[in-house]
Formats: sequence, structure tokens, C-alpha cells
Amino acid sequence: MSDRAEKLELIRHVVHMEPHIILDSAKCSNCQQKPCLYVCPAGCFTEKDGETEFQYAGCLECGTCRVMCAKEALKWDYPLGGYGVSIRMG
Ligand code: SF4
Ligand code: SF4
Repeated sequence: MSDRAEKLELIRHVVHMEPHIILDSAKCSNCQQKPCLYVCPAGCFTEKDGETEFQYAGCLECGTCRVMCAKEALKWDYPLGGYGVSIRMG
């Protein structure tokens, strides 16, 4: 198992039904480079028929997409307490 895969094995997700990141896909329509497709370490962004799609389950809460999205298409917050990512320690 790769080092990256071993680290991901330590991560536990508790997914809240309310998304902590919301994509305004209308703002994506004239985004040419779509960096979110490449920078998200969890692969939460995909492209289908030219449209950007987003799913929040599996998000690692790194904040990269918020920084990289020049169109400010993401309403971004951390998940509510008790939800989201936690790290198994031993
Ligand atoms: S970078 Fe922002 S505007 Fe561009 S496709 Fe991704 S979320 Fe949409
Ligand atoms: S916060 Fe990080 S892991 Fe979550 S969707 Fe954005 S880039 Fe992906």
C-alpha cells in the first residue's frame, strides 16, 4: 500500500445530510480552466457533459477548492461539530 493510501486509511468520515460546501454551478459555465477538477485531493469535483459536478461526501476539508476557485462559486464552511473528517490515532 502506498504512503498516501495508508494515510487515507486513517481518516474517518461522518457525513452530515446538510452539505458544508455548496456549488453555484451557474458560475462554472464560463470557467475555462476548472482547477477544482485537478486540485481536490478527494476527487469531489467531476465534469459531465461539460458541466462541473460536486459531491461533498469524502471532502477532506483542506480548503483548496475555495482558494483556487477564482469565480467564487463555492459557499464553503466546515461541517457541523461531530461531522466531517477525524483521524484515527492508533
Ligand atoms: S474552479 Fe470554481 S468556477 Fe471553475 S469549475 Fe471549479 S467550482 Fe466552478
Ligand atoms: S475542501 Fe479540499 S477535499 Fe474538500 S472539496 Fe475542497 S479541495 Fe476537495
